Amino acid sequence: MHSDKKMNEVTVIGAGLCGALAAVLFAKRGYKVAIFDKRREDEMFADSGRSFNITLTERGLVALRRCGLEQQVLEAGVRCFGRQVYASGRQEDDESNRFFTPYGKSENAFLLSISRKALNQILFTAMTGEPAVSVNLGHKCVEAQKIGGQVHMEFKTANSGTVKITSEFVVGADGAWSFMRKAMMRHRNWDYSQSFSQTRYKELFIPAVQDPESGVDGHMPTTTKKLRFALDSSAANGEQALQLWPRRNFLLLAMPNSDRSFSATLFAQDTVLQSLSDEATVRAFFERHFPEAAAVMPTLEQDYFGTAGPLGQGNVVGTLVETRCSPFHVDDSFVLVGDAAHAMLPFMGQGTNCAFEDVMLLIELLDSHGCDRASRAEVLAKYTELRKPHVDALATMAKEHDRTLSTMSKAKPLTETLRESLALLFPSVGSFRSAYENVAFTTIPYGRAIEDAKSVEGWLERLVFAGGVGFTALSSLAVGMWLGHTMS
Ligand SMILES: Cc1cc2nc3c(=O)[nH]c(=O)nc-3n(C[C@H](O)[C@H](O)[C@H](O)COP(=O)(O)OP(=O)(O)OC[C@H]3O[C@@H](n4cnc5c(N)ncnc54)[C@H](O)[C@@H]3O)c2cc1C
Repeated sequence: MHSDKKMNEVTVIGAGLCGALAAVLFAKRGYKVAIFDKRREDEMFADSGRSFNITLTERGLVALRRCGLEQQVLEAGVRCFGRQVYASGRQEDDESNRFFTPYGKSENAFLLSISRKALNQILFTAMTGEPAVSVNLGHKCVEAQKIGGQVHMEFKTANSGTVKITSEFVVGADGAWSFMRKAMMRHRNWDYSQSFSQTRYKELFIPAVQDPESGVDGHMPTTTKKLRFALDSSAANGEQALQLWPRRNFLLLAMPNSDRSFSATLFAQDTVLQSLSDEATVRAFFERHFPEAAAVMPTLEQDYFGTAGPLGQGNVVGTLVETRCSPFHVDDSFVLVGDAAHAMLPFMGQGTNCAFEDVMLLIELLDSHGCDRASRAEVLAKYTELRKPHVDALATMAKEHDRTLSTMSKAKPLTETLRESLALLFPSVGSFRSAYENVAFTTIPYGRAIEDAKSVEGWLERLVFAGGVGFTALSSLAVGMWLGHTMS
């Protein structure tokens, strides 16, 4: 750690997943932290409209490991070792189109499905437990300006007061609609773009079901012992799986929770969602397209319209936005992390993992270069330079992955089968991992993780093509010889 005599100070705006992690990590590195969030404590964990699960992978877990929270988080979530896919075009009780695809061979090839609320709570408790962190909830930042070497900020408090502070070093972690990004963009030439996806989403719920025969988990509370998942993952050898119904123009996803319920999300174009205008239509749509799910969703209609059920009142349709900006910093005093720097579509399940990685990189750079003014200018510029290409590569892949998930089927391209066979034959050669595996289960920088896998894919395509050409040439030769023989 860099050893300035004076304790380094940092102000963090936004105490969501990324801001709270940043506060904990900064405190553990010896910084004095002041963190502000517009939400009051009672609003921090209110579920409504944000109850979707987060899938954490190796990148996110590494950050939690650094602050001693990994075990707690692992225990609060459910490990999914693959996808259980319900392909379309199946008849009732026809198991042939139901298949399991494992995420990979390595022991960390799993997604940890955890409720956003549970993860938020663990981080929040860790943050409030750090003596060097002063937590200011119910403080909405409404003004931020850089004057000289200081960022001057103004907050509206929950009890209608006004608080003004200045800070030499500010980290903006205030999410996709970041006020800090907007305010700081005035200071220099920033590139900024935002685009909405045609796909929108609706959160849904699959409750646990009674299981009189279970009760083998000694660590489970008595009430949970009697419950089981409504959708079994027998294809995954007893391990849990992410449940997926790909239907080309829409898809249903269900992620397991530790209380044996599933948090489900319907992703669809607006036209599809608008056509689901009453309870009977919703039920019929689910029975037609997702029969296995419909059968275990007793409160589907109420959940969908937010009239009752665990999702509470007013379950609105969620929009999905991608934002890109450059740079991520202003001089030596301001820097963006997490969704504030790069909101992306959720189809790779990497937003939080990427946000956590941002924080780790920033802190590592500060550790190695120092946090005094002159070093900080260099560190923040380096942070933008190192992070931007990788985050862009991930955002692009996240967009493409929507299509991959929606069209997933049992039949695989020949190149994929070949890649999987090579991965099996040479398990220690990481080069045969897919781009998805590289992104999710390694910590190779995103851009390289994707590029490496794509270049192997290109190489396999050429091989298959050459094989195809060779086979065609040989067949033509054989046919030619046979024709020559019969005609002579
Ligand atoms: C449908 C969906 C599914 C997703 N699934 C996954 C997944 O499976 N895996 C994954 O890794 N990621 C997933 N993500 C992405 C993930 O939710 C985000 O990347 C993550 O929440 C980013 O955290 P953050 O702290 O940057 O932003 P946020 O969690 O949005 O936190 C921002 C904080 O800033 C505060 N704030 C905002 N404005 C102000 C202000 N003016 N003053 C003070 N405070 C302010 C807010 O109250 C909030 O607490 C998903 C996203 C969506 C939409």
